[in-house]
Amino acid sequence: MQTADFSSVKENGTYYLDVPGVGKSWSFAIGPDVYSRAFYLTMRAFYGQRCGTAVDLSPDFPNYKHAACHLSGAFHATSGKSGAHVSEKGWHDAGDYGRYIVNSGISTGELLWTWELFGPRLKSIKLNIPESGNSTPDILDEIRWNLDWMLTMQDEDGGVWHKQTSENFAAFVMPEKDKLTSYVIGTGKEPYKNSCATADFAAVMAIAARAYKEFDAEYALMCLRAAEKAWVWLEKYPNVTFRNSGNVLTGGYGDMDCRDELLWASAELWRTTRKETYEKYFLEHFSEQLPALRATGPPSWPRVAPLALWTYVLGGGTNQNAVDAIRQASVRAADEIVERTNQNAYRVSLTTREYVWGSNAVAANYSVQLLVANVMKPDVRYRQTATENVLAFMGNATRRTPVSASASSAERV
Ligand SMILES: [Zn+2]
Repeated sequence: MQTADFSSVKENGTYYLDVPGVGKSWSFAIGPDVYSRAFYLTMRAFYGQRCGTAVDLSPDFPNYKHAACHLSGAFHATSGKSGAHVSEKGWHDAGDYGRYIVNSGISTGELLWTWELFGPRLKSIKLNIPESGNSTPDILDEIRWNLDWMLTMQDEDGGVWHKQTSENFAAFVMPEKDKLTSYVIGTGKEPYKNSCATADFAAVMAIAARAYKEFDAEYALMCLRAAEKAWVWLEKYPNVTFRNSGNVLTGGYGDMDCRDELLWASAELWRTTRKETYEKYFLEHFSEQLPALRATGPPSWPRVAPLALWTYVLGGGTNQNAVDAIRQASVRAADEIVERTNQNAYRVSLTTREYVWGSNAVAANYSVQLLVANVMKPDVRYRQTATENVLAFMGNATRRTPVSASASSAERV
C-alpha cells in the first residue's frame, strides 16, 4: 500500500500521476469544491427515483427518463380497508417500484438532518429539479416529494401502513409500463398498521416540522400534527411488527424490534416541541439503546437508535447524564472508526463482513456517524475519514472529465 499526500499542492486544477514503469492514473481534481458534484449527483438520484411524475435526468444523463407512473392506488385486504386510495409522489425504493415507510425513515430523516446541519451551505445549491427557482431550497423540495407520499400513508387513527407496492415485484420494465395495482399494504390483522413504520413516520415528520417552518409554516404544522397523532397511536400499540401476509411478496423490511424507532420518535418530537412527555419517554429508555453507539454497525433502516441518541444531544438535551453518556460513546466509536479506516488500503470504513447488498449505505452511514461525532467534538480526522468514504464509493462523481496529456491544466506531480 502506498499513500500519496498532495497537501502541498495548492493550485486548483485537474491532475494525474505518471510513474515511469507503473503507469498513468485517472485524472483527479484538486480544489475547494471536489465534493460538489458528488452531492449534486446524489440528490439527483433521489429526483430520478420520483414516482407519480415524468422524470428526465438530462442534461447529465440524457437517455435516462420515464413518463409519469403509478398514478392510481388501492387498499389491499391486508390494510383493513378497501377501495381506491391515492397513489401520490414518493421515491421508488431501489430496483423495484415499491414505496416503503421504514426505509423512507432513515433516508428522509437523514436528508432532513443534512439540511439542519449544513443548511447555510446548501441553501443556494440548484439541483435542476422542476421546483428550482421557487422560494424553497431545492434540497427541501426534493425531500418534500417523499414526505408528501408518507403523509398519504397515515390512517385516521394515527397509525401508518407499512408500504405501497404491488403484490409481486413488477417485471423489468419502465415504471410507466408497470400496470400492477399499487396497494397500501398492512399487517393483515388488527391494528393493520405497525409500530416501526409509525414511529419512523413520527420521527421524520417531527424533523420536517422544524425544517420547513421557515419556508412553509402551514406545511410544517401539518407535519407536526401528523407526528403527534402517530405518537398517540404508538402509546396504544408500541410493538406491532410487520411480516408479509396474504399474497404479498414484495420487500418485507421486517423489523421485529421497534424500541429503537420509538426512541427516535420520542427524541425528535421532544426536540421539536420540548414537551415533557416525549423527553420523559426518552430518558426512561435511552440507556437500553446506548450499546448501539459502536464502531461496527452504523445506523441503518432497522437500527435507528444512534439517530435517537444523537438528536437528543444535537437538540440541546438538558439531562447531563444522558448527554455525557451519548457524547462519550459517540466519540469513542468515531476514534475507532478512524483508526480502522486508516489501516484500510482504500480508506474505507467498512469491516470485511459489511460488503453486503446495499453496502454503499453502510459506508455513507459511517460517514454520517463521523460527521455527527464531529459536531459533538470537532476533530479534523472525523471529517477527513467521512470524506474518504465518499471518495471510495463515489470516485466517478468526484472525478472531472479526463483531460488529455496536452491539456494545460494537467501536470505531472
Ligand atoms: Zn412510480
